Amino acid sequence: MRAHCELTGHPEPEVFHMNEGHAGFLGLERVREYMKSGALTFDQALEATRAGTVFTTHTPVSAGIDRFPRELVERHFAKESPVEGLPLDRVLQLGVEDYAGGDPAVFNMAVMGMRLAQRVNGVSSLHGAVSRGMFQGLWPGFDTAEVPITSVTNGVHARTWVAEEAQDLAQRIVPDSAEFTRPEGWRKITGASEAELWEMRRILRERLVITARARLRDSWRQRGASEAELGWIDDVLDADVLTVGFARRVPSYKRLTLMLRDRARLKAMLTDPERPLQIVIAGKAHPADEGGKRLIQEIVRFTDDPEVRHRIVFLPDYDMALARSLVQGCDVWLNNPLRPLEACGTSGMKSALNGGLNLSIRDGWWEEWFDGSNGWAIPTAEEVGDPDRRDALEATALHDMFEEQVIPLFYDQDERGLPKRWLEMVKHTLVSLGPKVLATRMVQDYVARLYQGAADSSRLLTGDGMAGARELTAWKQRVRRSWNDVRIEHVEVGGVEDPPQVGGELEVLATVSLGDLDPKDVCVHAAVGRVAPSEHLVDPAFVGLVAVGGAGSDGAPARYSGTIPLERAGSCGYTVRVMPKHPLLADPAEMGLLALPDPPGGMGDGVVLR
Ligand SMILES: *Cc1c(COP(=O)(O)O)cnc(C)c1O
Repeated sequence: MRAHCELTGHPEPEVFHMNEGHAGFLGLERVREYMKSGALTFDQALEATRAGTVFTTHTPVSAGIDRFPRELVERHFAKESPVEGLPLDRVLQLGVEDYAGGDPAVFNMAVMGMRLAQRVNGVSSLHGAVSRGMFQGLWPGFDTAEVPITSVTNGVHARTWVAEEAQDLAQRIVPDSAEFTRPEGWRKITGASEAELWEMRRILRERLVITARARLRDSWRQRGASEAELGWIDDVLDADVLTVGFARRVPSYKRLTLMLRDRARLKAMLTDPERPLQIVIAGKAHPADEGGKRLIQEIVRFTDDPEVRHRIVFLPDYDMALARSLVQGCDVWLNNPLRPLEACGTSGMKSALNGGLNLSIRDGWWEEWFDGSNGWAIPTAEEVGDPDRRDALEATALHDMFEEQVIPLFYDQDERGLPKRWLEMVKHTLVSLGPKVLATRMVQDYVARLYQGAADSSRLLTGDGMAGARELTAWKQRVRRSWNDVRIEHVEVGGVEDPPQVGGELEVLATVSLGDLDPKDVCVHAAVGRVAPSEHLVDPAFVGLVAVGGAGSDGAPARYSGTIPLERAGSCGYTVRVMPKHPLLADPAEMGLLALPDPPGGMGDGVVLR
């Protein structure tokens, strides 16, 4: 039976989702509560807490990770306001950077989050991969690809972000809104007529023009301008001109001013008499971020120029209301972060749902869902080491995209003023991205990949008087104590065919000393792959080996065997590894324990396949 809250009658939550380190201390409070109510040790309470906790890391920018002086945590947990029942040394251990490259004087909130949670994720597929590299030190010995950090790509809430006109249009074509939970429902959007789609886009663009003028007037008044000086604002922006939006908080990786690298070229596009571009920029710098404030000043100076001020505006105080009019009214949503520093990015998703087209560096979500024709990818120059040169190359690429692709497509309009190919792209954007960018999809992913597993684990650990938490803790302690004695004594391989052939199989026999552990406490894998010059296996294929004898009570080594399919021609190497195994572990890498042959890497002699 699940416990219910005495006050509200709601079931007590089973899964706690900590978004970024700021939420991390909730895990400590839960440890404290479990210790008290369940009469558990710190370690047992930690296991119970971890089982029902999901931690999401939100930034690949290391400066964005909360790190405090260790001394601050000592002060708040012990000296000034001691938290009864939580041993200070254990609290400190949770946030310590005790890995290569770490700073022992620092308490790292993300690291604490990962130690308090059995399940961890990043917020896009690329960010998951970047996070696995960034936090690899917590799982020493494991290849980056095996670090147990998965990903769930963010999504956005349609009713919050989609303009009423767009929702109405969608409802006329697909009356049952439940259909929008499925790709087939979104496909029906192609049934919208070009004229009604274009009319809807024009209404939203016009509304943005009006909002932008009002905000611009406010901002000039605040700068001390009198009404008489502001007549020009009535002619700022045009409801029939291609409108690009760029709205950001302004940490440096977002590169607010990239478009200014070639001012003459930008100016030419803004003032083109036939096919002009107009740009609406909104931004907000953190009050302490002097660099960000400088970037905003640079933009503002450019937009003040009387020659371009009717085509490019900067709107201060970027907030949700302003974000709504921008993502609804812009034809193109521009994003040019320094790849791979954008964890996900969601403003482009909001734009896509309103029929905007994304023009973005392939970072965050765009790396995953750009399909070649649902918008544009700005080519990156990541391989260029010099940051200034990289900016210059990417800025040129951005301007090329505008001139060669975006502008011609928008102004390629038929006799009725309809840009047919543009509208095709809008429809393809809605069909291909609509089902993916919704928050409902994101929540389903969280349930399937993380919450369900966490709820199951939590029940197993906390049910039956916390028996599972006690059992898992005792088992982990035993495994940690004994792990130094786990040794791969011997590995033998042979082709099932002799000599081994592509398309055939390799037979592996491993002899493993387990010390005090039982064969059921470990899993043994064989890996085969190409051998890099560094002696590492590249993209190895893993196969589980099965125990075939030995390991009696006499302490004799255990023997494991299995066969690996040989798929690629050329030279390949193999190795064997041992990891802890228990039904209550969420991932074999969870404990960060791994035994490899000695010397480490322990490639076999290599097998050449023809
Ligand atoms: C959507 C939104 C964001 C996040 O957008 P990014 O794509 O991550 O830059 C930030 N601020 C506001 C006000 C938003 O609406």
